[in-house]
Amino acid sequence: MRKYVIMGVQGSGKGTQAMLLADDLDLVHISVGDIFRWHVQRHTKLGAQVRRVMAAGELVGDDLVESTVRDRLAVHDWNYGFIIDGFPRSRRQAEFFLESYDIDAVLHLDLPDSEVRRRVLARRICSRCGLDYNLIFHRAKVEGRCDVCGGELVSREDDTEEALATRLREYHTKADPILELFRTKEFVVTVDARPDKVTVQQDIRKQLGLPEYRV
Ligand code: AMP
Repeated sequence: MRKYVIMGVQGSGKGTQAMLLADDLDLVHISVGDIFRWHVQRHTKLGAQVRRVMAAGELVGDDLVESTVRDRLAVHDWNYGFIIDGFPRSRRQAEFFLESYDIDAVLHLDLPDSEVRRRVLARRICSRCGLDYNLIFHRAKVEGRCDVCGGELVSREDDTEEALATRLREYHTKADPILELFRTKEFVVTVDARPDKVTVQQDIRKQLGLPEYRV
């Protein structure tokens, strides 16, 4: 059983790295942002509660985030463990998590703000099936159309210059103290997120003492 938290600013490749690790080790990949987006797209009650805050690039309230994470982990479909992405994003969320679950390691993907801006503004998502694309690393075969379902590719509602500046500011004021808190209690692994995704994955595995990633 392995329980990991993956942290890093938006665009640092958290989702991609979490998925590469999860697929190989049979971990359940839990993304709080994906759970919220699922609810927004389906117009659920939770979706209505978080939509505006998300579109403005602000953080959803701790109570809603905690209950969302608690409900998701209570499904107990994670026999081999989980990797949670996009959480915790405040000191309170970190304290709640430390009290409730034992974590094996916190993976911290480190990326400078200038590179974040370049990557995030190139991000696209399929408006029909939700698949992620990027105009820098992962272009669709036909411009503007999803390779899988043919849906239209759009920017995420929160990937604007303005929302990104808010998110970066929030990230630095909130994430740095969380990392400090984790460093006093947990095993924190910091990885340079600038290289290509395979190099980053190998670095994570090396630092965690896991077998190499086979492409
Ligand atoms: P992400 O996909 O991780 O970038 O999350 C998208 C948006 O969902 C964020 O900008 C927040 O509005 C919200 N969100 C996701 N995770 C959290 C969290 N742990 N705490 C507060 N808000 C969150």
